[in-house]
Amino acid sequence: MSAIPMIELRQVVKTFKNAAGEFTVLKGIDLTLHQGEFVAIVGKSGSGKSTLLNMMTGIDHPSSGQVVVNDTDLYARMNESQRSLWRGKNMGIVFQFFQLLPMLTLLENVMLPMDYVGMYDFDERPERALNLLKLVGLENQANKLPAAVSTGQQQAAAIARALATDPPLLVADEPTGNLDSRSADIIINLFQALADQGKTIVMVTHDPSLTSRTSRTIIISDGELVDEAVAQALPLLHHRQMLAITKTAGRKHIEAGQMIISRDSQVDAFYILCAGTVDVVLTGKKREDTIVSRLEPGQFFGEVELLRGDKSIASVRAASDGPVELLVIARNAFLDLLKQSPLTEETIAKIVQRRLAENKSADRRE
Ligand code: ADP
Ligand code: MG
Repeated sequence: MSAIPMIELRQVVKTFKNAAGEFTVLKGIDLTLHQGEFVAIVGKSGSGKSTLLNMMTGIDHPSSGQVVVNDTDLYARMNESQRSLWRGKNMGIVFQFFQLLPMLTLLENVMLPMDYVGMYDFDERPERALNLLKLVGLENQANKLPAAVSTGQQQAAAIARALATDPPLLVADEPTGNLDSRSADIIINLFQALADQGKTIVMVTHDPSLTSRTSRTIIISDGELVDEAVAQALPLLHHRQMLAITKTAGRKHIEAGQMIISRDSQVDAFYILCAGTVDVVLTGKKREDTIVSRLEPGQFFGEVELLRGDKSIASVRAASDGPVELLVIARNAFLDLLKQSPLTEETIAKIVQRRLAENKSADRRE
């Protein structure tokens, strides 16, 4: 994975208008996806996943905001047909229902995008298409019609077709939604291998079990994105609860090496780490400071004190190697949240026990 942006959405809004009135489906989306990432976009049915994907592919256009894909501003200068040609060269699209042409063989289906954008010599195309079918395990089915192979194989062929013009980006809307779990697994393995080769894969899914296989998960709830650190820190909340926290939490920037909480002080918030590294430190009375643990983005602190109503058991400071971004949730909002989510409360209670034990043993060593 790299830090090169592949897809950038800035304040993307999408409003549908019809006889019943206006309906805003995307409410100001900011999102950056990088080259080589395998990204899952998840959310309840109707939350705006497909609409979001259509903004990235240029299939539909935003009501306002900017979409930049592979250094091209999709909606600034191109007209519809330029965009369609650009799409053919820059991205492969995989649909839930494959959408292979039924009267063409798998090989011919894979050759179609090459014809459309005029890439590769005419004579080269069949061999290239066959190699792609080989890549997805279909070299022996190349001359069959779609109806003659299984649904899993049809989807694999659709992936080969999406790769026809060797695009840097693959976009898939519920690609496993119509497959049994074994076929779905094969498709996910394929995506993973392609991401390892440097392709960027964006996959919409409502199957949360697939997100363990991706490098990043974006949650959309009612047309808004959940902060990724919130989703990692509090995975047992409902999407709506995650979104509420995303919107109400304060944000704090801390410089490298700066103290966030000093030992024995009052703690009045729950902190989620969004970026950077945080050290939990027992400041030595006689000796040097001991770092008890190091927290990474998606981890949290402050819960021990909030739940015990006690002063801080350790100091917390930004690591020396860079600044830190925090989400700050006020004490009462945090306690309310635990009341709303017994599973979260239970998980956090266990973490409190573990952290207290860790600190005690570190204290004894001191
Ligand atoms: P998802 O893919 O997450 O299930 P969609 O992006 O398809 O959700 O749809 C989000 C919401 O936008 C839904 O309420 C849907 O009814 C509405 N919607 C989608 N497309 C249109 C459209 N062309 N016209 C009007 N409403 C639409
Ligand atoms: Mg959809």
